Amino acid sequence: MKSLLSQRAAHLKPSATLAISTKASELKSQGVDVVGFGAGEPDFPTPAHIREAAKKSLDRGETFYTPVAGTPQLRKAIAARFLVDYGLEYKPEQILVSCGAKHSLYNLFHALLEEGDEMIIFAPYWVSYPEMMELAGAKPVIVETSEDDRFVPDPGRVESSITSRTKAILLNSPSNPTGVLYPQSLLEELAKLAEKHDLLVISDEIYDKLLYDGLKFAPFATLPGMKERTVTVNGPSKTYAMTGFRIGWLASTQLALVKAATNIQSQSTSNPTSTAQAAAVEALNGPQDEVERMRAIFEKRRDLIMAEIDKSEGMFSVRPDGAFYAFLNMTQFYGKKGISDSATMAQYLLESRNVACVPGGPFGSEDHVRLSFATGEETIRKGMERIREACQALG
Ligand code: PMP
Ligand code: GLU
Repeated sequence: MKSLLSQRAAHLKPSATLAISTKASELKSQGVDVVGFGAGEPDFPTPAHIREAAKKSLDRGETFYTPVAGTPQLRKAIAARFLVDYGLEYKPEQILVSCGAKHSLYNLFHALLEEGDEMIIFAPYWVSYPEMMELAGAKPVIVETSEDDRFVPDPGRVESSITSRTKAILLNSPSNPTGVLYPQSLLEELAKLAEKHDLLVISDEIYDKLLYDGLKFAPFATLPGMKERTVTVNGPSKTYAMTGFRIGWLASTQLALVKAATNIQSQSTSNPTSTAQAAAVEALNGPQDEVERMRAIFEKRRDLIMAEIDKSEGMFSVRPDGAFYAFLNMTQFYGKKGISDSATMAQYLLESRNVACVPGGPFGSEDHVRLSFATGEETIRKGMERIREACQALG
C-alpha cells in the first residue's frame, strides 16, 4: 500500500489537554479516585435558561441547516454584546459563527496563511496554536517570555522576531495556561508594531469575562487604530459554561477574510448546530447574572489554590489574573527518581497519587505543569495535598 497518511496528519500531535482529560475520565470509570486538574472547562451546569432555550428551539422544529455563518439572530446578538460590553461596533456580516472558538481559529488560519507564512505567538501558549498553524502550512514563531516578568512578552523581542513573512501576532490575554492579563502598556506597544510592520493581530479573548481582583478587560480592537487590524476570537464555552455546545466566533472588519473563512466552513462543517446557536442567542441576550456568580466562585478557587501552592515547598506559580489555570513551576523536583521534564512529572503525579494535570511541554514550557482550578474546593484541597505528598516522597 502507498503511504497511508498525509504528511500533515502524520506530523500532527493530539491535543494534550484533551488527552489528559480523556485519561482521567477513563480512570474514573474504572473506579479510580482521580483528582482531575486536566481539561480547562467550567464544572458548572449550563445555566437553566440557556438549556431551556435549546429545548424550545428543538420543539419549534429548528432542526434544519442554518446559514453557514450562523443565524441572523446569533450574529446580531454577538454584535450587540460587543457594543454593550465594549463599545465596539460590528455588523452581523463581519461575524462568523463556528463550532467552537477552536474552529474559528482553524478557519481563520486557513483563510489567512500561505505556505511558509509566519505568525508570532508568545510562550507559554495554548497547545493548539502551533499545531493548527502548521496544519495550515505556516510557521509558528515563538517569542519566549520570562516567569520573572510574569510571562509578559518584551516588545523588543517581539520586534526582532518579525520578518518579511510575518503575517500576524496572536495573543491570548488572559492567557491559557498562565492566567496572566497583559498590561495596557504592552498592548499599546504591540499596536505600534502592528502598524509599523503592517501586521494583523489575532486576539483570542475567550477568557475576557473571567477576571479577578476587580481587573477590567479591554479588547485589542478598542486600541486606537486597531479595529481594522484585529480579528477577535471568542465564544460562550467558558463564560456561560457551554463547552459541549461547540459555538465560537470571530469578528473582523476585513470582509474578504470573514468571507474566505466562511467559504472554508461551507466546504467542511457547514453551519454550527442549530440548537446550539439558539442556546447561544439566549446566553448572550438573556440575564447575565450567572456569569458573575460563576466568576466569583472561580475567584475564590483561585485564592484557594494560590494559598495551597504557597504552603507547598518547592513549587510556585504566578498569581493568575484571570482564566482558571495555575501554571506550577516544578523544576525543584527535577532530577529525582527519573523526573526530568513536564511529561515525566505529570506521569509521576498521575501514577503515584492519581492526580491528573497537563504537562507544560505542549504549552512551550518544560518547567511547569498546568492545573485547572475549574473544579470544586474540596478537589483543589485534596489534589494539592496529594501533589505535596508525591513531591515529599521524592526526597
Ligand atoms: N482559546 C483558548 C485559549 C482556549 O483555552 C480554548 C479552550 N478550549 C479555546 C480557544 C477554544 O474553546 P472552544 O473551542 O470551546 O470555544
Ligand atoms: N481549552 C481547554 C484547555 O486548554 C479545553 C481543552 C482544549 O480545547 O484544549 O484545557
